[in-house]
Amino acid sequence: MDLSFTPDQEALRDAVLRLYGKQSDGERVRDLEPEGFDPALWAAVVDMGLPAMALPETARGAGASLTDLAAAVEVHGAHCGLVPLVETAVVARLLAALGDAAAPLLSQIVEGSAATLRLASGPGPAAFAGIAEVVTARDGDRVVVVDGPLAPTPRTLAGLAIATADLTGGRTLAEGAAAIAIFDRAVDEWRALTAVAQAGLARASLELGVQYARDRHQFGVPIATFQTLQHRFADLHERVDGSRLLAYEAIWALDEGEPTAPALAAQASWYCGDVADEAAGFSLHVHGGYGFMLEYDVQLHVRRAKATRLLLGDPRRELDVIADRRWGAAAPDPALVAAARTARPTRPGMDFRFDAETEAFRSEVRAFIGEHLTDEIVARALTTGTMHDWGFHKALCDRGYLASGWPREFGGLGRDAVDQTLLLQELYASGAPIDGLNIASMVGATLLVCGTDRQKAEILPRILAGEVMCCLGYSEPDAGSDVAAVTTRAVRDGDDWVINGQKMFTTMAHEAHYVFLLCRTDLDAPKHKGLTMFLVPMDSPGVEINAVATMGGERTNITFYRDVRTPDSCRVGEVDAGWSVLHAALVYERSSANWGEPDALVETMATWALQPADDGVRPFDDPIVRAALARWSTELEAGRLLLFRAAWLSAQGGMPQVEGSMAKLHITEAFVQASSELVDLLGTAGLAPGHVEHAFRHAVVTTIYGGSSEVQREIIAGRGLGLPRSR
Ligand SMILES: Cc1cc2nc3c(=O)[nH]c(=O)nc-3n(C[C@H](O)[C@H](O)[C@H](O)COP(=O)(O)OP(=O)(O)OC[C@H]3O[C@@H](n4cnc5c(N)ncnc54)[C@H](O)[C@@H]3O)c2cc1C
Repeated sequence: MDLSFTPDQEALRDAVLRLYGKQSDGERVRDLEPEGFDPALWAAVVDMGLPAMALPETARGAGASLTDLAAAVEVHGAHCGLVPLVETAVVARLLAALGDAAAPLLSQIVEGSAATLRLASGPGPAAFAGIAEVVTARDGDRVVVVDGPLAPTPRTLAGLAIATADLTGGRTLAEGAAAIAIFDRAVDEWRALTAVAQAGLARASLELGVQYARDRHQFGVPIATFQTLQHRFADLHERVDGSRLLAYEAIWALDEGEPTAPALAAQASWYCGDVADEAAGFSLHVHGGYGFMLEYDVQLHVRRAKATRLLLGDPRRELDVIADRRWGAAAPDPALVAAARTARPTRPGMDFRFDAETEAFRSEVRAFIGEHLTDEIVARALTTGTMHDWGFHKALCDRGYLASGWPREFGGLGRDAVDQTLLLQELYASGAPIDGLNIASMVGATLLVCGTDRQKAEILPRILAGEVMCCLGYSEPDAGSDVAAVTTRAVRDGDDWVINGQKMFTTMAHEAHYVFLLCRTDLDAPKHKGLTMFLVPMDSPGVEINAVATMGGERTNITFYRDVRTPDSCRVGEVDAGWSVLHAALVYERSSANWGEPDALVETMATWALQPADDGVRPFDDPIVRAALARWSTELEAGRLLLFRAAWLSAQGGMPQVEGSMAKLHITEAFVQASSELVDLLGTAGLAPGHVEHAFRHAVVTTIYGGSSEVQREIIAGRGLGLPRSR
């Protein structure tokens, strides 16, 4: 896996940035928008060789990849470039693929002519057909070309030199299934490259909004301090990043000839358009009345984002294309998809596959799950609400999975964050009850960093062996998101501490041998500085556990501590250093949002949809069902990319806290909405207990524990976007 540009791609992006920064600023685009074309910029873009760069060298191109080209297109999108860069590059590749019959036209383009393509079959509008000399289209089973430029349509939504292509006089370039397949591939390249441009536009729109919010004062403060605005910005920050990752994944898949490339191109096209629409729309809203004024750039972004989407027709129709390509008649052979996973990159730079060792690890984990996780274990966990099974837990520990990311010298497997994340997702997707694994792993990792020699010698090996379980005693009735507000008191008494207080939601307390207990030890210190962490045996006199039932079926507990006497040897870390102990585990533990479960939900629903119902009709043939499946599979693909981006950054030695928050926010919010919409599809059948009904009851808690969505938005807005403290 590699999500970075090559040095050459970076250099190209920087060069294009300099060009567009000089020649395509907002004022110039606004001035030229009515004509829909910037001849000076086009001359400069041709001079740089951009439209022909992704042609093979045999066709007088630079032999560059689509990913190389995308590095330029992203900048082009961010600047609302008024030139047919994407269209010409795509048509050039189309003509090169069509062979000799198209060679003269291709030469014309290599010499600097602009070209475009009509995306839908038959006559109709095409972007830049009002200035392009070569207008290509599909007409039935023929690929045709019309000489341009055509008469432009005046005053369209966002310039772009739109003109209607009348194909009656069109010359046939090629015909038959092979020619149409080449044309369809060109449309997919347009989809993916335009998705990159839309991701660039979305980022630029968001930056406009954020900057305006910093500068604009109301009620005596910058409007950027308002939490309502910050949280929408935080949502957009992660959505824009997710859209960019998805766009590049689609581009990479086309470059590599991945069997999933057509589906990814449609997903990227729909998603990036949607996000660009949303980012530009919200940024305009943040500008208040000024956003409507033509002298502001943001209104241009709103029109451009929407107009670009409309070129493909009603954007919702893309959802139907996605469904067809993911599960319908156009879906790839699963065997080919599986085989492509182990293919190796053909060029340096971005690679969205896992490396061979990680793929082998995934196979090992799947085999382990197949061997050890039974339907009875899953059913028992769902019935009892205890998301832990001692037998399965022991097997996980024996295999070293509790400490997959720890260094080998401490009993771990020494695997990187990508492998750790993959392990967890495979377990989540399988429905394995792993609350115990997650908690024990977290406490173990903290002991590794902050524990005493005795704790490391006596407790850690037993945690690693799967013999000892822990629970987390952080939350209290009046300390939830603000966990530093805990009031459970620990008072020194000789060699002991005496603990009194109450903890809420102590999950696994009824199975645990120890509670990792955050206590207040100094009432006078600032609230983050008067805390100390203890590892208190659950069989200590004075510990009481009361069960709490939840909507999602998970059992949690309220725990009470009444004059619990604990030796000082149970303290973890220094006195009053509990806050840093709470965060220490991050060295070996990276938060891994539960993506596997919502993904499994979408796949379950797809399987249901493909089976004929009692009336013999497949739910999949209902456009509402197809749209829902397409939408949530796409949202979750963006979530998967955000999640593995954070893991990949970790594996590179980074501490991607903001990126981890983005992934958690995206995935858990998508889980809530997906489970609600997918259970709706079942109608009355959704009332009966089952996978989907359970997912609906369970999903919401994922947006609360592990830091609620609002807490994640605070992190993203503050640390990610650098916005001031909110009010
Ligand atoms: C099933 C389950 C299991 C759990 N397991 C454990 C466990 O094992 N150990 C443990 O210690 N805890 C556990 N928790 C507790 C969990 O961590 C807390 O529920 C969580 O931190 C939120 O705290 P709270 O419930 O008190 O909500 P509050 O913090 O009171 O939040 C209420 C609402 O206010 C919002 N809010 C809070 N702060 C802000 C802010 N700054 N800006 C905007 N909005 C804000 C929240 O997002 C939320 O929507 C569990 C909870 C559940 C439901």
